[in-house]
Amino acid sequence: MKSLWNDAEAAQFSGPLGLRVYASRLLGRDKALVLHGGGNTSVKLREKNLFGEEEEILYVKGSGWDLETIEPQGFTPLPLGYLRRLTALEKLSDPQMVNELATHSLRAGAPAPSVETLLHALLPHKYVDHTHADAVLSISNAPDGEKRVRDIYGDRVVVIPYIMAGFDLAAYCAREYPKQATQRTVGMMLLSHGAFSFAEDPRESYERMIELVTMAEKYLTARKAWSVALPSVPAAAFKREEAAQLRREVSKAAGTPMLCLCNDSPRFLGFARHPEVARISQGGPATPDHVIRTKPRPMLGRDTGGFGAAYREYFEANAKHAKEPKTMLDPAPRMALDPELGFAAFGRSAKDTRIIEELYEHTIDVILRAEALGGWRALKDRHTFDIEYWDLEQAKLRKSGSPPLFAGEIALVTGAASGIGKACAEAFLKRGAAVVGLDRNPAIADLFKRQDYLGAACDLTDAGAVQSAVDAAVKRFGGVDMLVLNAGIFPSSQAVKDIDAGMWKSAMAVNVEANLLVMQACHALLKLAPRGGRVVVIGSKNVPAPGMGAAAYSASKAALNQLARVAALEWAKDGIRINTIHPNAVYDTALWTEEVLASRAKAYNLTLEQYKKNNLLKTEVSSKDVAEMAAEMCGPLFAKTTAAQVPVDGGTEKLV
Ligand SMILES: [Zn+2]
Repeated sequence: MKSLWNDAEAAQFSGPLGLRVYASRLLGRDKALVLHGGGNTSVKLREKNLFGEEEEILYVKGSGWDLETIEPQGFTPLPLGYLRRLTALEKLSDPQMVNELATHSLRAGAPAPSVETLLHALLPHKYVDHTHADAVLSISNAPDGEKRVRDIYGDRVVVIPYIMAGFDLAAYCAREYPKQATQRTVGMMLLSHGAFSFAEDPRESYERMIELVTMAEKYLTARKAWSVALPSVPAAAFKREEAAQLRREVSKAAGTPMLCLCNDSPRFLGFARHPEVARISQGGPATPDHVIRTKPRPMLGRDTGGFGAAYREYFEANAKHAKEPKTMLDPAPRMALDPELGFAAFGRSAKDTRIIEELYEHTIDVILRAEALGGWRALKDRHTFDIEYWDLEQAKLRKSGSPPLFAGEIALVTGAASGIGKACAEAFLKRGAAVVGLDRNPAIADLFKRQDYLGAACDLTDAGAVQSAVDAAVKRFGGVDMLVLNAGIFPSSQAVKDIDAGMWKSAMAVNVEANLLVMQACHALLKLAPRGGRVVVIGSKNVPAPGMGAAAYSASKAALNQLARVAALEWAKDGIRINTIHPNAVYDTALWTEEVLASRAKAYNLTLEQYKKNNLLKTEVSSKDVAEMAAEMCGPLFAKTTAAQVPVDGGTEKLV
């Protein structure tokens, strides 16, 4: 492992807290050191209070901050002397400890300090760095882990057996540190948990961490336990309906829709097909704090019922030893290893599934390396349980509040690169859905830069392209629950007697046939939607009220309307609702430039303003108005409605 310290970069950070921020970000940049909010850092400073008295203050990382992106306000200031007095107490419950930390913060609005704050306080050095480095975990979780750690580091580190983070661990370290520490000590190893390094200087503390981890890497390399290859296995063709079926069962077990991310890359698939997978994958997490996201172990195969029964047993066996009564979490898995699908991660949000995937990618390395040293020794279930059901961890989850309307669900929107389609994508994202946007325009791929969005350039009249796009959607999110059929074209005006055959065919191909292809590709997925499938068709006012010169458009939209009505009849038994919106005069789309609008207004002898509001309510209809209706049609308001046709047009006189 290389030090990433760069003097020019460091110079942009001022003062000891600034350099604390910089070095913390360097740790966060290396995923083999810390992942997703894992690890923490601190600095001890002397500062004058309002009375001019010098005080020793500990600035420690607050929860909710990630080391990679931390800012100075991500550190919570606390009085060091008081914290040290706490570590000397005989007893302190974790809720009491949290209370003391919260009530002694020296800055209003500072985040809750790390549950490892007292460990930082008791170490004598100015800068303290803590990581959950993969290499160190592989060694401490191998047979004779403690002996190996002592052999590698000698008296350069203090070695602490596994104790759950919190007051007990801090109190143990407060007693043990002075006994083991020597002049040469630069760090502390917490077995089955992680590593600490410390120094008077931020760079030195950081580089000591790099050095300690490098020593572990060299130890593994010397024993051929660093780059552990997996036999290469050919991936099976992705079976999207099987993935969607699995997601449905997991959602049922969780009692709420869950997203499912599948990864059949060689590393994950090779691990899922490892001859010893049933033993090596079932031990427990690489470091305890993964468990709150991943549960203790992945499901093997797809037996969600069997997984739930085993989870209940684990809960009952361990809950009876807990100090206070515990309530069981849902028994659904958060990960699965399957010989065909590879690895699957389940979560309420796309971000959650990504985090789980990344945690397990590192877990695979940690397990294989420990195996190469003689055998992976995971934490015991009772330790994992203590973390999973630790009140402080449960509180973090509870704090997340009530989930958005479409959390855990997936919407696929066609023609999403602009206009009504783009507004629909936004409306569904705003309501917590993961969104798949399809469009002929390649800009669709980067329309939104967020983990709950997948954009794919796709010609919807090409059946093969539609199949691949739907496969990609299911691989990333696990299914399609809501479908918005928006893509369409508005051919140039032609009188019936002059209609060009090619133009007529392309209107039918895009406005009718392409929608049929998408509906057919998604039917089985909509049927498997945990809350039932929903389809919204973006029709047109031209269906009930066609316009002269727009035969191809009106006829194709009318055909689509009939297609939707028949599908509503046929798919109702599959729990799929299909409703149609008939928008009119939506002018904030790429189709309508200011010039075109002005010339149209002139043709009708109206001002631009009058032209835009030429409806009963004298109101302007925007893409957003249509999109909001589309999203609401997929929600509980329309739960009992199918085959409805709703105008969003400000009122059309000839339709009243
Ligand atoms: Zn830790």
